[in-house]
Amino acid sequence: MENNKVERMTHKTAIITGASRGIGRNTAINLARRGVDVIFTYHSNQKEAETLIREVEAIGSKAVGLRLDTGDIRSFDGFVTNFRDVLQTWGRDRFDYLVNNAGNSLHVDFEKMTEIQFDEVVNVHFKGVYFLTQKLLPLMNDGGRIVNISSGLTRVSVPGSSAYAAAKGAIEILTRYLAKELGPRRITANVVAPGAIQTDFSGGMVRDNPEINKRVAEITALGRAGLPDDIGPMIAALLSDENRWVNAQRIEVSGGMAL
Ligand code: NDP
Repeated sequence: MENNKVERMTHKTAIITGASRGIGRNTAINLARRGVDVIFTYHSNQKEAETLIREVEAIGSKAVGLRLDTGDIRSFDGFVTNFRDVLQTWGRDRFDYLVNNAGNSLHVDFEKMTEIQFDEVVNVHFKGVYFLTQKLLPLMNDGGRIVNISSGLTRVSVPGSSAYAAAKGAIEILTRYLAKELGPRRITANVVAPGAIQTDFSGGMVRDNPEINKRVAEITALGRAGLPDDIGPMIAALLSDENRWVNAQRIEVSGGMAL
């Protein structure tokens, strides 16, 4: 994508959770192409985080990667302090865009789900999103934007995803409440719900398991499984001023999956 073909969002700052790989990483790169500086989080992949920093800097934007477990709510205060320090080194005290993307998968049938497994899923995919957003909000500029990443699995029920999909459903409802309560600050909140995307998610099954990849392609109107680059540019566009009036929406980005 050429820089002159997209709206420049220079002097804006984004925070993206879980950007060392997959959809978050692609979003970071696409925001950088629009001139946005990116503070992102990684969980276990410091090496991937370092290569992303170099990639964003090569595009001409700033990037810093901070370690965060989005399921460890007690660590958030310390994280926000580190985040504020990074902003200050950039001469800023506020940021503009929050993308709650970090996540892992758990496929367990409803009848076999343990309470510990359930809590892990809910902590990362719902409670963590709730309280990280709450703690970052005082640092967000009025007129900022929030994008929460959900899943096609809130619309289509696939066995083994009950806790994961229910937690994603919870952030869809939360998003509408954020839009309502933050409206007076002109902050928008939207959900992006990807279809099956070829990343490392779920052990890379959509990408690496030929049978699953084929099945996804067969139920997708556009005839293939999604790629990170089908999602990142869309999120970057949604955050831009061109989409300022889009608010409280769930937008499925799936190539028309399971219609
Ligand atoms: P990937 O597995 O490719 O990347 C996941 C990212 O989240 C990594 O950066 C990882 O960090 C980070 N992460 C994982 N667990 C935690 C944690 N506990 N705390 C903080 N960060 C964590 O996944 P995708 O890019 O595919 O998924 C991104 C989002 O999209 C997720 O919310 C997922 O639920 C959602 N989604 C994905 C779909 C798909 O088919 N791929 C479909 C629909 C929704 P690190 O690499 O450092 O470990």
